[in-house]
Amino acid sequence: MSLTEAEELELMLLLEAEAAESDIVEWIRANQIVNEKGDPIEFERHRFLLDIYRDESPKLCVMKCSQVGLSTAAILKEFYMAAKRGFNCIHTLPTDDDVRAFVRSKVNPIIERNPAIREKLIGSTDNIYQKQVGESFIFWQGTKGESKGIMITSDLNFHDELDRSDIGKVETYHSRLAHSQFKGEWFFSNPSRPNVGIDVYWQMSDKKRWHVKCPHCGEWQDLNYFVNVCREKKAFICRKCRGVLDDETRMKGEWVAEYPGREWSGYHISQLIAPWITAAEILEQEQTKSQEYFYNFVLGLPVIGGANSVSRTIILQNCTLDMKKKPRFNLLGVDVGKVLHCVQGNEWGITKVFTLPDWEALEKYFRQQGVSLCIVDNAPDTEEAARFVKRHPGRAYRAIYDYDDKRKEAVEFIERGEKSGIVRIHRTRAIDALIETYEKSEVSVFLKPNDPQLVGKQKAGVIEDCLCDHWETLYIIGEDGVDKNLVKKDKMGNVIRTWENAGPDHFAHANVYYEVARQKKLPAANMPEDLPRSVPRSRLSSYTGY
Ligand SMILES: [Zn+2]
Repeated sequence: MSLTEAEELELMLLLEAEAAESDIVEWIRANQIVNEKGDPIEFERHRFLLDIYRDESPKLCVMKCSQVGLSTAAILKEFYMAAKRGFNCIHTLPTDDDVRAFVRSKVNPIIERNPAIREKLIGSTDNIYQKQVGESFIFWQGTKGESKGIMITSDLNFHDELDRSDIGKVETYHSRLAHSQFKGEWFFSNPSRPNVGIDVYWQMSDKKRWHVKCPHCGEWQDLNYFVNVCREKKAFICRKCRGVLDDETRMKGEWVAEYPGREWSGYHISQLIAPWITAAEILEQEQTKSQEYFYNFVLGLPVIGGANSVSRTIILQNCTLDMKKKPRFNLLGVDVGKVLHCVQGNEWGITKVFTLPDWEALEKYFRQQGVSLCIVDNAPDTEEAARFVKRHPGRAYRAIYDYDDKRKEAVEFIERGEKSGIVRIHRTRAIDALIETYEKSEVSVFLKPNDPQLVGKQKAGVIEDCLCDHWETLYIIGEDGVDKNLVKKDKMGNVIRTWENAGPDHFAHANVYYEVARQKKLPAANMPEDLPRSVPRSRLSSYTGY
């Protein structure tokens, strides 16, 4: 029996529609889906994205460089899972600002430019934080903003830019999956440090790398910058015969898992596998960018060290048990989170690094110790912080971080008026200044260098709740031509240099607040007179407890 032309066409459309229901790539082809700029999604030069688009593993991680079209893939995959698989999704980004920028500049344009999405998938709920897609919902959440964690049940948690996110907050989303059969957890991120963020999931995964076949000798190999990039020829070469690997060869690779069968499906994407990026461009980036940038954003690999991060040696070199001068002041810096991270000391240095469970414990500790000056984080418990400061005028301030370059001083205490009790701190400059203070040994640490308060139990690959580990999660961005999606910008569009964290950094901020208190008291401490006149002697001695 033969079909008429019309029947044949109908059958073909039917098969196409069926294929689109089961395969995202068919769905993209059949509906001629375009990206946020209106360019068609093509899999010729982006062949390495095919498997990533199609991968519906519940546990999926992609450790990636920048500039490879992954955010479009993320958005389309999520739409597809919501619409065709009926999954509710939570998509997290580092901050609320990131959510607004991402949805406005990427998600919404994709919806607007694709009738197949706009008309067929998007329901009546359609705002920055929540959209109905098919019968399901996608929620966008910042991990570091004020937005509260949502209490809905999710089938798929999609964590974007994990390494810049609040990793503790990200973990709390896991409980949203309890009632889902799928229990999907997807992580897409640039890496930062080894054993932090995306690298943790990559290490657990089957570790798929893009392998290419040398057209000269037939050797299959993955592309490694230190093996496959020839400086003289400015070209990609075979690890075996050293013949040149052309763009076509890089394009026609295959994903090969190092550990097939593992629960986590993992992909590593470096710019080496992007056929539109040349060896010369990669070599140039190594010359012109920082080591961190080159590893994290070009090679898509985690890296330790370099000038743009903090090493524990600058802190530990200041350890001493010898307090040469008698201190007058008892100072406390408090970073507020799930618990209160505290750094305590006097005008000469740090004496104690510890946590308190809550505000009540802080109030008790403050009184017991007779703290002379305490600086507490204003966020996230602004009301608690305000009440605490109000109870202890002149002895407690709440810290508000900013990036106000116009203010002459990095730190400004507000002593009068409505805003009294607030101290404004230029975040980047204050952290810079404290690092310099450590480097120049202008502050002491009155603890042994192996004290767990400083270095924890020294477990390899774990960020412990201690001062040095928290400092070492910090790294600077915005110093060179860093990925436009990552840097903060001021109103004029200038890049703001910021310290970001690749893990918990609470003690580093408690340390900054302590240092702000110390700097305020230093002039009085250094006065030749016995005591500053404004402070009654009798009160002071009972305050300090020394
Ligand atoms: Zn070869």
